[in-house]
Amino acid sequence: MCRAQRTLAERVTFTGVGIHTGAKARLTLHPAPVDQGIVFQKDGVSIPATYQYVVSTQRSTNLGREGVVVATVEHLLAALGGLSIDNLTIELEGPEVPIMDGSALPFCEGIEGAGIVEQEGEVEDYHLERPLFVAQGESLVLAMPDSQYNLEGSVEYPSPQVGLQRYRYCGYDNFVTHLAPARTFGFWSEVQELLQHGLGRGGDLQNALVFDRPGFKAEENLRFRNEPVRHKILDLAGDLVLLGRPLCAFVLAIKAGHKLHVEFVRRLAQEMEKDA
Ligand SMILES: [Zn+2]
Repeated sequence: MCRAQRTLAERVTFTGVGIHTGAKARLTLHPAPVDQGIVFQKDGVSIPATYQYVVSTQRSTNLGREGVVVATVEHLLAALGGLSIDNLTIELEGPEVPIMDGSALPFCEGIEGAGIVEQEGEVEDYHLERPLFVAQGESLVLAMPDSQYNLEGSVEYPSPQVGLQRYRYCGYDNFVTHLAPARTFGFWSEVQELLQHGLGRGGDLQNALVFDRPGFKAEENLRFRNEPVRHKILDLAGDLVLLGRPLCAFVLAIKAGHKLHVEFVRRLAQEMEKDA
């Protein structure tokens, strides 16, 4: 599919804290010209939001260049991919993208409030032509040729509040209602360990679901019965934006995380170069 490239009609700012660092952050999205792509600006350094600039994937996807790092980009990128924003300059003050409510919904609402405009330049989906996959242990990301963009995820956790979950997001589903609201989650048993490693300092009960916490009632707190697997698909959608081009394929992720997602994007990019 070929369509007009898109950017914002005007700039929009978000403020909050980073979930891992707890640091205050201010994020401003600026309209950008045709063919620029999505580019972060921090401390005078431009960091394109593509797989070549991934510097680490421990619990979040972090981009960097010349020693400057922008952390936890995945939910913002998922919002940009979900709303088909191709060109954007993202100014970040602070070490990490603010976590907001743990989902991509606040970013979507802000972007839709600012307005989206079509530009005089086109973008064409990358149509995957042959199956490919990456795997590690029990985790797998697999793609098959398809006539549209479909994402399916499967997770399994020992927590009885989560258990085994599967979900499929179809390209024709509404991103803002089906995926964007699904929030970051964790488990009560992990919280202490995370704090010991210096992660999760900005996490609280407003921006992450903590399953198995004493008194936590899933039925009262969840936006979707299967919110965890939807969030994992949201993370995958954000990491897939790092390909730098919209994808047309069916992608299945089983027990995958940012590290495997990014390895998968590198594999896809190799394939895309072969087909070019
Ligand atoms: Zn996430």
